[in-house]
Amino acid sequence: MASYDAIIIGAGISGMYQLHRLRELGLEVRLFEAGGGVGGTWYWNRYPGARFDSESYSYGYAFSEEILAEWDWSEHFAPQPETLRYLEFVADKLDLRRDIQFDSRVASAVYDEAESGWLVELEGGARARARFLVAAVGPLSAPTLPRIEGMETFRGQAHHTARWPHEPVELAGRHVGVIGTGATGVQVIQDVAKTAARLTVFQRTPNYCAPLGNRPIDEETQRDIKARYPEIFRKCRETHGAFLHQADPRSALEVDPDQREAFYEWLYEEPGFGIWVGNFRDILIDKAANDTISEFMARKIRERVRDPAVAELLVPRDHGFGTRRVPLETNYYEVYNQPNVRLVDLRATPIERITATGIETSDERFDLDVLVYATGFDAVTGAFDRIDIRGEGGRTLRDKWADGPRTYLGLQSRGFPNLLTLVGPHNAATFCNIPRCSEQNVEWVTDLLRYMRYHAYERIQPTAAAEEAWTRHVYETAALTLIPTADSWFMGVNQNLPDKKRTFMAYLGGAPAYRARCEEVAARGYEGFELR
Ligand SMILES: Cc1cc2nc3c(=O)[nH]c(=O)nc-3n(C[C@H](O)[C@H](O)[C@H](O)COP(=O)(O)OP(=O)(O)OC[C@H]3O[C@@H](n4cnc5c(N)ncnc54)[C@H](O)[C@@H]3O)c2cc1C
Repeated sequence: MASYDAIIIGAGISGMYQLHRLRELGLEVRLFEAGGGVGGTWYWNRYPGARFDSESYSYGYAFSEEILAEWDWSEHFAPQPETLRYLEFVADKLDLRRDIQFDSRVASAVYDEAESGWLVELEGGARARARFLVAAVGPLSAPTLPRIEGMETFRGQAHHTARWPHEPVELAGRHVGVIGTGATGVQVIQDVAKTAARLTVFQRTPNYCAPLGNRPIDEETQRDIKARYPEIFRKCRETHGAFLHQADPRSALEVDPDQREAFYEWLYEEPGFGIWVGNFRDILIDKAANDTISEFMARKIRERVRDPAVAELLVPRDHGFGTRRVPLETNYYEVYNQPNVRLVDLRATPIERITATGIETSDERFDLDVLVYATGFDAVTGAFDRIDIRGEGGRTLRDKWADGPRTYLGLQSRGFPNLLTLVGPHNAATFCNIPRCSEQNVEWVTDLLRYMRYHAYERIQPTAAAEEAWTRHVYETAALTLIPTADSWFMGVNQNLPDKKRTFMAYLGGAPAYRARCEEVAARGYEGFELR
């Protein structure tokens, strides 16, 4: 059986960088990836309209001046094919593929106490062992489908957005149905509406969507971006979510209503997540402050959608602005003014079954050629749960996290020594411009492994007290915000997963505080961890 110093699971932006760093350390590393190529999210999500919500140049790797100089982003918010090309370019540049085994899904990982290491088994039975196991399995990589009677009988094409075929799917001139109106659904809908003969949107929960403000990057801007990379990444290091948007230090309630309105109008025109994470400091903390922006956003929907009845269906009623992941859009609301687009409110008329020819709701039948499931993911813990991970005493991680994740710094869970989780639950990377936070995770893990080698340590895991304190801190921090007032994937809520408990998946203390905490822990000889 092949044996390595470290095995990495997942060749997305996190796993790729981890592979590079551990190889630099001189370790023997193997990376197993379920997909047929590098890129993770950007390999799988090939649906029409898929693109960044992060500014492109704030998302790419920061560590290599050569990569920064050689890569040109064509748009402020690049589309998926470009991001996939970028990650392929990086894989070539760093010669990553020689240590990556594609089409290799890890089925199980069992901790071997005698060897202080992990025994990994792939689907198909091949096995390998390593001292360290780094899970870079992705926060949004385990797709979920609804459970609807008759799904398997549909005779047209049906695709989950995260399992979109590599060959083009013909949508022009056809009748397309989209189930789901989250961040992905919104991107698909606004794109498909351009060419479909008829588009029927099946909506259960409307979200507050904000304009993306995308535009091409001209040559002069390109030069400017390249010259300003150090400043761009410095800014990302300073903001709460590592985006290029800094929260306004004022309260929404202390400015006069005209000023507030003017600020909201300005933010509405601002590209990217500015309106979400660059807004007044208290819109995600204070209900009265949140009401002011929620009312503003609802007004925008009513202004943009001509039919008042349709507009009312698109206005969220069950959550405040920003308490769920905000979809960014380009003419999304105007789509509902088109004669070829129809919105079906599943709360009023639920889907009863899927048939060979389409969808039947409680009061109508819709014939469809193509059915798009924009039904999201088993977020954050889903990709872990799909692997049979067994730690000390044979206990499964799935079992340990059944009532919610328990970790120290979102990087390790007690009872699972030498297993390190990038962008794992309760890690700042889950509420972040992800590459900025995952590169911090990667660098921290790399430093740890260097430290362990230097001190001839073979095993690391958190103490029970450190894990307990971190988990408590994660929940206490979340409770200071309005995020727990909404059902969302941050809360582990997915209506397609009725058995998944409502807990909390992210960490809301912010990237700078999280980074400082991780650095402090390392500086104190990995305080809170047991090393031996
Ligand atoms: C459509 C979409 C748009 C997004 N846009 C943004 C954005 O604009 N900004 C932002 O910050 N974030 C965005 N995200 C979040 C995105 O997931 C992260 O930005 C980032 O790509 C995560 O990288 P990762 O390497 O941690 O995980 P992933 O990219 O998800 O990669 C994980 C990899 O692990 C593999 N894997 C999982 N389980 C196994 C297994 N058992 N065996 C083998 N391989 C396995 C998967 O196949 C996958 O390739 C978006 C997500 C989606 C779905």
